[in-house]
Amino acid sequence: MATATLTIDLAALVRNWQALDAKTDCETAAVIKADGYGLGAARVAQALAHAGVRKFFVAATEEGAEVRQALGPGPEINVFSGHMPGDTDMINDLQLTPMVNSIDQMLRHVESLPGRPFGVQLDTGMNRLGMEAAEWAAVREIAEGQNPTLIMSHLACADAPDHPMNVQQLQAFTEMTEGVTAPRSLAATGGILLGKDYHFDLTRPGVGLYGGFPFDDAEAVAHVTVPVIQCRDVDVGETVGYSNTWTAQRPSRVATIAAGYADGLPRIMGENIKVFHGDVACPVIGRISMDMIGVDVSHLDDDPLTLDILTPEQTVDMLAEAAGTIGYEILTSLGARYTRRYVA
Ligand SMILES: *Cc1c(COP(=O)(O)O)cnc(C)c1O
Repeated sequence: MATATLTIDLAALVRNWQALDAKTDCETAAVIKADGYGLGAARVAQALAHAGVRKFFVAATEEGAEVRQALGPGPEINVFSGHMPGDTDMINDLQLTPMVNSIDQMLRHVESLPGRPFGVQLDTGMNRLGMEAAEWAAVREIAEGQNPTLIMSHLACADAPDHPMNVQQLQAFTEMTEGVTAPRSLAATGGILLGKDYHFDLTRPGVGLYGGFPFDDAEAVAHVTVPVIQCRDVDVGETVGYSNTWTAQRPSRVATIAAGYADGLPRIMGENIKVFHGDVACPVIGRISMDMIGVDVSHLDDDPLTLDILTPEQTVDMLAEAAGTIGYEILTSLGARYTRRYVA
């Protein structure tokens, strides 16, 4: 077998949700967009629903359909992109709840599916999705007359606790929602960590569930183990990999492992990451190829059968740092080629 194994620890996922839930006095939902941040929306949703999560959020109606199939009727499945043209049948048949973000979307929803639930997304400064203050003021009465399930907005800088944008958006959200009777939601993972002022009635953590920054106390959820395809001796002066970027300075033992940038391990990480044999670190050498990485295993007693790349010692955030990106992008890039193993 020459495919890497992505092990997803559903028990750790559930503990991360519980730990975030324990930081608030309100309800805690779960964001499982982008196939559960790359880890498998159906399995993630089932594990969390089993642990008591009743509200889920996805990016698109199509994602919501998959989650509904996995969960069956009951849990609320909310859609951040709202009610797009062509979504009506799926929203209706699969009991999805669009978070409408404009007057157009709200009208589309109440005209095509009168009486069916929806939430309202407000823009409080991020300028990405949601009604702006003037737009909201114009339709607030009509919207409230339809009993929206949620009024929500999203923070742009919540992973930087001291950023003035946080207070600014909190103030805007508080003003725009003053006196509403519908439940309110502002915080994702970062917002939960900003404290109770940001929690309102419902929080919407995503990345923290999957073990990523800014939830520093999160447990690792994703583990990647890669088979060794071949080991060889390399003499002083010989090179390894594309473009000859690594030259042996001493007689070396080199392992070639079966994962590469096509598995979401960015080429740019190169020699900034390590791979692990148990807790022994082994340097990456040469370029990361599409399907393979070279590893210096000279210091191991025996040739390894497998090596680990995503471990509690080398987290998604450490890989992200080595690649100049964020943990979210590492997780959602892991790709389809892994053999996925779910453990609970
Ligand atoms: C992705 C997203 C979340 C979850 O954010 P995390 O930072 O992953 O916790 C919550 N709300 C909205 C609107 C989002 O787009």
